Amino acid sequence: MKLMFYTLLILLLTILTQVGGVLLLIMLPFLHMIRLASKWQQVLLRGGIFLLIYTSAVFLLISPLASLNNRVPLPCFTDEKTPLAAANIGYCLLLRNYVTPQVSHRLQNIARTLQQQYTHDSTLYYLDASFPFWDGFPLLPHLSHKDGLKVDLAYHYRHKTTEQPLDSPPAWLGYWFYEQPESPEDAACQGKRSWLRWDFDALQSLYADYEMDEQRTRTLLKLLTPEAQKILLEPHLKKRLRLDSSTIRFQGCHAARHDDHIHVQW
Ligand SMILES: [Zn+2]
Repeated sequence: MKLMFYTLLILLLTILTQVGGVLLLIMLPFLHMIRLASKWQQVLLRGGIFLLIYTSAVFLLISPLASLNNRVPLPCFTDEKTPLAAANIGYCLLLRNYVTPQVSHRLQNIARTLQQQYTHDSTLYYLDASFPFWDGFPLLPHLSHKDGLKVDLAYHYRHKTTEQPLDSPPAWLGYWFYEQPESPEDAACQGKRSWLRWDFDALQSLYADYEMDEQRTRTLLKLLTPEAQKILLEPHLKKRLRLDSSTIRFQGCHAARHDDHIHVQW
């Protein structure tokens, strides 16, 4: 029973963070030296120590090691020089914010250009990127995010009624707040259901007060297009944002929707 629990936990941590499973495996013999009379206190203390060491590794150890693999972390928080940040700190804590130095450089440049074009705060928020190690290790559920060259970016948003720009995406993770097609004819994949094409209908009412900031999102896509190898976006958004570059493509019906975020690869 215990063996199954730890196997599942190591598997889950590996899927979520790549490194967490290995770290737990290394730490298990030491964690088992902690013995307390109360079972619950023992579990809490062991869990707390693991989290402390894991978090220290995330911020102090992984980045220098990943640089040997030509990967660097994207900044977790925005600062005066670089208005680029994770849409949720979880992307940093789970080590899902690693890219090649070239990709990091390009994104930071684009973030600065965007900021210069708008007087208000226009931070560029990223979602899932890649893990720090091992080319070919997929960052689930994104099968292609496995080489430090792919990043998901949040749209820019504003309040529907006041048109006031939002500082950050309204959705907790930056995903799953879908821009719906303006007319049913514009909808891709009509009548083609796929278990990979999630709609999350129940969540959409949470974001009813907000909408995509078309102008800023269009500017972002225009800045990304010249250097990108491929950008994934739903056709109805490509039409609505008046974009005609062949770099901006539809991902097909057997993949996640791309009218809640931008997938860009170099
Ligand atoms: Zn993606």
